[in-house]
Amino acid sequence: MLNPVRKASPNFRWEGVEPQRYKTQGEAPFRDVSRQVLFEVAGAQWRYFEVAPGGWTTLERHAHPHAVMVLRGRGRCMVAGALHELAAHDLVEVAPLAWHQFRASADSPLGFLCLVSAERDRPQLPDREALAALRADAAIADFLDGR
Ligand code: MN
Repeated sequence: MLNPVRKASPNFRWEGVEPQRYKTQGEAPFRDVSRQVLFEVAGAQWRYFEVAPGGWTTLERHAHPHAVMVLRGRGRCMVAGALHELAAHDLVEVAPLAWHQFRASADSPLGFLCLVSAERDRPQLPDREALAALRADAAIADFLDGR
Protein backbone atom coordinates (compact mmCIF):
# COMPACT_ATOMS: atom_id res chain seq x y z
CA MET A 1 0.00 0.00 0.00
CA LEU A 2 1.23 3.45 -0.85
CA ASN A 3 2.56 5.32 2.14
CA PRO A 4 0.12 8.20 2.70
CA VAL A 5 2.97 10.46 3.74
CA ARG A 6 5.88 11.38 1.49
CA LYS A 7 8.32 13.51 3.43
CA ALA A 8 9.79 16.72 2.12
CA SER A 9 13.47 16.69 1.24
CA PRO A 10 15.71 19.75 1.14
CA ASN A 11 15.40 22.13 -1.79
CA PHE A 12 11.74 21.58 -2.60
CA ARG A 13 11.95 17.90 -3.35
CA TRP A 14 9.71 15.14 -2.00
CA GLU A 15 10.13 11.43 -1.35
CA GLY A 16 9.00 9.36 -4.29
CA VAL A 17 8.71 12.34 -6.63
CA GLU A 18 11.12 12.54 -9.53
CA PRO A 19 11.74 15.91 -11.18
CA GLN A 20 10.70 15.75 -14.82
CA ARG A 21 11.27 17.82 -17.88
CA TYR A 22 8.98 20.85 -17.89
CA LYS A 23 8.28 20.24 -21.60
CA THR A 24 10.03 18.43 -24.36
CA GLN A 25 12.89 20.57 -25.61
CA GLY A 26 11.97 22.19 -28.93
CA GLU A 27 8.21 21.77 -28.35
CA ALA A 28 7.88 25.31 -27.01
CA PRO A 29 10.24 28.05 -25.84
CA PHE A 30 11.13 28.14 -22.14
CA ARG A 31 14.24 28.36 -19.96
CA ASP A 32 15.37 26.59 -16.79
CA VAL A 33 12.09 25.12 -15.56
CA SER A 34 11.64 21.80 -13.71
CA ARG A 35 8.37 19.99 -13.00
CA GLN A 36 7.37 17.60 -10.22
CA VAL A 37 3.96 15.93 -10.11
CA LEU A 38 3.06 15.79 -6.40
CA PHE A 39 -0.46 14.36 -6.60
CA GLU A 40 -2.78 12.79 -9.16
CA VAL A 41 -6.10 12.71 -7.36
CA ALA A 42 -9.74 13.80 -7.80
CA GLY A 43 -9.29 14.19 -11.54
CA ALA A 44 -6.55 16.73 -10.98
CA GLN A 45 -2.78 16.96 -11.03
CA TRP A 46 -1.01 19.03 -8.43
CA ARG A 47 2.43 19.96 -9.65
CA TYR A 48 5.41 21.91 -8.36
CA PHE A 49 7.31 23.96 -10.91
CA GLU A 50 10.56 25.66 -10.27
CA VAL A 51 11.95 28.35 -12.52
CA ALA A 52 15.66 29.00 -11.94
CA PRO A 53 16.91 32.61 -11.56
CA GLY A 54 16.44 34.39 -14.87
CA GLY A 55 14.33 31.55 -16.27
CA TRP A 56 10.83 31.64 -17.71
CA THR A 57 7.92 29.39 -18.56
CA THR A 58 6.36 29.16 -22.00
CA LEU A 59 4.10 32.01 -23.08
CA GLU A 60 0.91 30.06 -23.76
CA ARG A 61 -2.83 29.76 -23.34
CA HIS A 62 -5.29 26.88 -23.17
CA ALA A 63 -8.91 26.16 -22.32
CA HIS A 64 -8.08 24.63 -18.93
CA PRO A 65 -7.53 26.97 -15.96
CA HIS A 66 -4.59 26.99 -13.54
CA ALA A 67 -4.65 27.61 -9.80
CA VAL A 68 -1.19 28.64 -8.62
CA MET A 69 0.41 29.29 -5.24
CA VAL A 70 3.93 30.65 -5.08
CA LEU A 71 5.93 28.56 -2.65
CA ARG A 72 9.41 29.94 -3.02
CA GLY A 73 11.33 32.93 -4.26
CA ARG A 74 10.35 35.90 -6.33
CA GLY A 75 9.40 36.78 -9.86
CA ARG A 76 6.66 38.14 -12.03
CA CYS A 77 3.84 36.83 -14.10
CA MET A 78 1.91 38.10 -17.08
CA VAL A 79 -1.70 36.96 -17.07
CA ALA A 80 -4.19 38.18 -19.65
CA GLY A 81 -2.13 41.22 -20.58
CA ALA A 82 -1.33 42.43 -17.05
CA LEU A 83 1.93 42.13 -15.10
CA HIS A 84 2.13 41.14 -11.44
CA GLU A 85 4.99 40.90 -8.93
CA LEU A 86 5.09 37.53 -7.18
CA ALA A 87 6.42 36.42 -3.79
CA ALA A 88 5.92 33.42 -1.54
CA HIS A 89 2.32 32.44 -0.85
CA ASP A 90 0.77 34.69 -3.48
CA LEU A 91 -2.11 33.08 -5.36
CA VAL A 92 -2.60 33.31 -9.12
CA GLU A 93 -5.65 32.21 -11.06
CA VAL A 94 -5.17 31.76 -14.79
CA ALA A 95 -8.56 31.81 -16.50
CA PRO A 96 -9.36 29.73 -19.60
CA LEU A 97 -7.61 31.07 -22.73
CA ALA A 98 -5.71 33.78 -20.82
CA TRP A 99 -2.17 34.23 -22.15
CA HIS A 100 0.28 33.61 -19.33
CA GLN A 101 3.96 33.41 -18.55
CA PHE A 102 5.95 33.17 -15.29
CA ARG A 103 9.44 34.59 -14.92
CA ALA A 104 11.85 34.21 -12.00
CA SER A 105 13.80 37.22 -10.82
CA ALA A 106 17.41 37.43 -11.99
CA ASP A 107 18.64 36.75 -8.45
CA SER A 108 15.96 34.36 -7.18
CA PRO A 109 14.24 31.15 -8.23
CA LEU A 110 10.47 31.13 -8.52
CA GLY A 111 8.84 27.94 -7.24
CA PHE A 112 5.09 27.45 -7.41
CA LEU A 113 2.37 24.87 -6.95
CA CYS A 114 0.01 24.54 -9.90
CA LEU A 115 -3.30 22.70 -9.84
CA VAL A 116 -4.64 21.53 -13.18
CA SER A 117 -7.20 19.08 -14.53
CA ALA A 118 -5.68 15.71 -15.42
CA GLU A 119 -7.69 15.77 -18.67
CA ARG A 120 -6.78 18.96 -20.46
CA ASP A 121 -6.21 20.53 -23.84
CA ARG A 122 -2.76 21.18 -25.23
CA PRO A 123 -1.25 24.63 -24.73
CA GLN A 124 -1.42 27.00 -27.69
CA LEU A 125 1.51 29.26 -28.56
CA PRO A 126 0.85 32.83 -29.75
CA ASP A 127 0.88 33.40 -33.49
CA ARG A 128 2.39 36.56 -34.95
CA GLU A 129 -0.86 38.50 -34.52
CA ALA A 130 -1.42 37.46 -30.89
CA LEU A 131 2.18 38.26 -30.05
CA ALA A 132 1.92 41.70 -31.66
CA ALA A 133 -1.25 42.41 -29.68
CA LEU A 134 0.50 41.53 -26.40
CA ARG A 135 3.64 43.46 -27.35
CA ALA A 136 1.63 46.59 -28.17
CA ASP A 137 1.93 47.30 -24.43
CA ALA A 138 5.54 48.42 -23.89
CA ALA A 139 5.69 47.00 -20.36
CA ILE A 140 4.53 43.61 -21.63
CA ALA A 141 7.08 43.74 -24.46
CA ASP A 142 9.83 44.42 -21.90
CA PHE A 143 8.58 41.56 -19.73
CA LEU A 144 8.52 39.15 -22.68
CA ASP A 145 12.05 40.25 -23.58
CA GLY A 146 13.23 39.62 -20.01
CA ARG A 147 13.76 43.28 -19.12
MN1 MN B 1 -0.25 26.98 -18.75
